Amino acid sequence: MANLCTDAGHGGSDSGAVWEGTEEKSLNLQYTLALNEELRNRGHKVLTTRKSDNPAPPLMDRCRLINAHHKNKAPEFDLIISLHCNVAAKRNEATGIYEPLENVKGFYAIYSAASQRAFQLASAIAQKVGANDIELRHNGMLTTIQLGRTLAWIHRTLPPAVLLEMGFMTNAQELKRLKDAAYRKTMVTAIADGIEAYLNQ
Ligand SMILES: [Zn+2]
Repeated sequence: MANLCTDAGHGGSDSGAVWEGTEEKSLNLQYTLALNEELRNRGHKVLTTRKSDNPAPPLMDRCRLINAHHKNKAPEFDLIISLHCNVAAKRNEATGIYEPLENVKGFYAIYSAASQRAFQLASAIAQKVGANDIELRHNGMLTTIQLGRTLAWIHRTLPPAVLLEMGFMTNAQELKRLKDAAYRKTMVTAIADGIEAYLNQ
């Protein structure tokens, strides 16, 4: 039994990415609730940053809250997973309209290169997701160095943390899949398998 922390990216007035009427925060929440259920069914303890759209504490408050729990061992988290969906679009300078980069797609886990445990967690999840017929981008993993920026979630929290970009809403096929209940089940089962593979290392 492990103590796990999950986070549905964005929420409340922060919708995250929006594409063709779909808000990232809603997809993130659906996946996080399904992942929480999957992990609890496997006997793990799960704390989560938001269970509904509102209210969602701002990102830095979430990080501070998690660190306070962790330091006081209430509980000490084994890991943190933050779930997100992605977009890739380019602004057409003539029309001002954002056009999707249709060929950009796939799942990847973002982690800090400074943390060996975060690397192991990202590897274990990417391996299980890739083995379940879910398309990977960047071979399923990207460091924040490759990403070219720091992420509060990964750099400001104490336990090993990864941020999962589950797919691109700007790829029509991937958006359709992300909204599909069977795909969601496959995805969260694979993520839970990856978490357990990491915990059993
Ligand atoms: Zn996001």
